[in-house]
Amino acid sequence: MKVRPSVKILQSQGLGSRRECENIFWNSEIFRNGIQIDPETDEISLGDTVLIDGNRFEITQYKYVLMHKPAGYETSHLPSHNPSVFDLLPKHYIKRGLQAAGRLDVDTTGLLLFSDDGQFIHRLISGKVGTKQEIEKIYEVTGARPFTDLQLNRLLEGVDLDDEPEIIYASRATLMPDGKLELGITTGKYHQVKRMVAAVGNHVEALHRTAVGPYKLPADLAPASYIEIDPGAILNKG
Ligand code: URA
Repeated sequence: MKVRPSVKILQSQGLGSRRECENIFWNSEIFRNGIQIDPETDEISLGDTVLIDGNRFEITQYKYVLMHKPAGYETSHLPSHNPSVFDLLPKHYIKRGLQAAGRLDVDTTGLLLFSDDGQFIHRLISGKVGTKQEIEKIYEVTGARPFTDLQLNRLLEGVDLDDEPEIIYASRATLMPDGKLELGITTGKYHQVKRMVAAVGNHVEALHRTAVGPYKLPADLAPASYIEIDPGAILNKG
């Protein structure tokens, strides 16, 4: 059975699991902006003031959070050997069902986005904004050895990684004045940057993400800190 939008909205407010929110929606007395709803025909929307069995809720917009991920944290609700990035966020975000848009390895630092807006997360992970545009993720890569022009060219021409059916290309590969490599990718394969760099004969010593699509890591955002952002019109359409 198709899940009703109201149930998804109740869930996004941290009111319980999908099943619990189905139960609330169908079996509670709900007033929307002062008028009792009929669950057969009415929906709850963002921006509504809702009374559920006498308890008042403002149905607020989705949350979008940008974090400067520190090293040593796993991007998982169920980390295996380290603390979780979710430990760095307040509990009320977690209760709303905030998810990370993709994963960074435990030793990778930099920009990590979270939201309880499933479409936003899906668009970032699947790499499509609107209909066609790709999402470029930018990394600063510290190599074990200096990067050579040959290595940069090979990354741009594409590398053949084990277990990947297609050739994987860098969307940009530029040597920075400090010797780090600025690498752009538009796909999100497992350990992709580390495997690409290994495939051209170097090794990643440190990896830091500075941008995902239109979102950039603010220079003044300290590791382990986060800010709420407005995702802007681009990511909300299409
Ligand atoms: N590529 C990697 O190898 N690791 C990351 O954390 C992100 C991209």
